[in-house]
Amino acid sequence: MSSTDFPYADRFPVHRALPERGTPREEVLAEVRQMATEEDAFWETGKCSGTMYSGDHEHYRFLTEAFGMFAHVNVLQRDMCPSATKMEGEIIAMALDLLHAEAVSEGTPCGLVTTGGSGSILHAMLAYREHAAARGRTDVNVVKPETGHPAFDKACHLLGIELRAVPVDPATTVVDPDRVAAAIDDRTVAIVGSACNYGYGTIDPIAALAGLAQERGVGMHVDGCLGGFILPFGEELGYDVPVFDFRLPGVTSISADTHKYGYAFKGSSTVLFRDTALRDAQYFHLPGWTGGKYMSPGIEGSRSGGLLAATWAAMVQLGREGYRTYAADIFDTAEAMKDVVRSYRELRILGSPTFCFSFTSDAFDIYHVADCMRGRGWRFNGQQYPNALHMAVTRPQTRPGVVDSFAVDLAEAVVYAMRKEAAGEQAFSGAIYGGVPGGMSPAAEEFIVSVMDGMLDTELSVPPGS
Ligand SMILES: *Cc1c(COP(=O)(O)O)cnc(C)c1O
Repeated sequence: MSSTDFPYADRFPVHRALPERGTPREEVLAEVRQMATEEDAFWETGKCSGTMYSGDHEHYRFLTEAFGMFAHVNVLQRDMCPSATKMEGEIIAMALDLLHAEAVSEGTPCGLVTTGGSGSILHAMLAYREHAAARGRTDVNVVKPETGHPAFDKACHLLGIELRAVPVDPATTVVDPDRVAAAIDDRTVAIVGSACNYGYGTIDPIAALAGLAQERGVGMHVDGCLGGFILPFGEELGYDVPVFDFRLPGVTSISADTHKYGYAFKGSSTVLFRDTALRDAQYFHLPGWTGGKYMSPGIEGSRSGGLLAATWAAMVQLGREGYRTYAADIFDTAEAMKDVVRSYRELRILGSPTFCFSFTSDAFDIYHVADCMRGRGWRFNGQQYPNALHMAVTRPQTRPGVVDSFAVDLAEAVVYAMRKEAAGEQAFSGAIYGGVPGGMSPAAEEFIVSVMDGMLDTELSVPPGS
């Protein structure tokens, strides 16, 4: 952590204890508004990869209004909020429809609304583990391509599942089904494919993996956290999007984030199952508890009705037409940005990506490009093995002029990178998931822990209790 992580420390009071007397609402709101306005300015230029999927303040105001009406409601108490049942059920139904659950004839498709992509993946992994446990199978494993999201590693870590990561082909960045086949054994409960993966925006050979899953009698989870709400519209628009959903008989679960290209608020995602037997395997109930009969359909206990209301509102308000229009703009913009990258022989796009792509260089360390572009307000996510820059195109990049400034700034950055490389200078940026920290040493464990410590602290170098 550096002082830039605590820019408010000398502008606003730092609270290390509850203030004895409350602060007037207007003052609290003025402080919050100040921070929000300054921070929004960072991405409103359109120069920030991913994260702000909508970027439309009118849309955010609309969601906030829906959120506000149910923010205080606990959806665990359904007798008090039948609206939650309507909205949660319909979010799941709309997501199932989008991912072609109508093609399922041998089961009853269903789903859960979770708090995010990691939550959806965690619930899916729990479902596979419990479904197997009910059939007497323990010590199970899951096989993912190494490009599969760390949420799989985290879920398996938490659930005591062995995770087997299979290398991908460096040329295509996607997994070879034969290598997945070789990693499957009699304790494998599921294999994973991404549509698309976060790092490269490329789509694993889902049809082949689904066929393999069927042949070997294992589950197949498609990670559509990123692509689930945009690839179906890319397919409709005629982009080269292979079938990755329930139309493939071997696909047994799919995660799709409403809080990414579903344009809902952060804290919402869906996980969909081919059949209720799988979803229901992870239900929890404790009928004999002294506090009453307890049950929760997912891992969370109390949940805010606001998130269900805002997610539902986003989906119903946009409709297929709204999502399709946004998808068209995003796919077009991504194509234009990829063309800019392809115009340099020093730069190389990894694999055949979609609306999200990454590029590297064989001529220089690509982080030199990040350094230079950073100075012009760009924020890419840094990748490693090989070093690459990642751009998930979202609505803010579709605004007029953004692709043009990308072209202008990249031209300068390529010249800068050649000069730095020729001078034998080290790039300033380093790879860390979620950002390119400036001027910091590589990701040693101690460093990583200190970054996380800093996220949870009030200020740098202040002794506790002072
Ligand atoms: C974002 C993402 C996840 C994890 O989702 P969170 O919402 O950050 O928890 C998983 N897989 C892919 C492909 C993603 O892009």
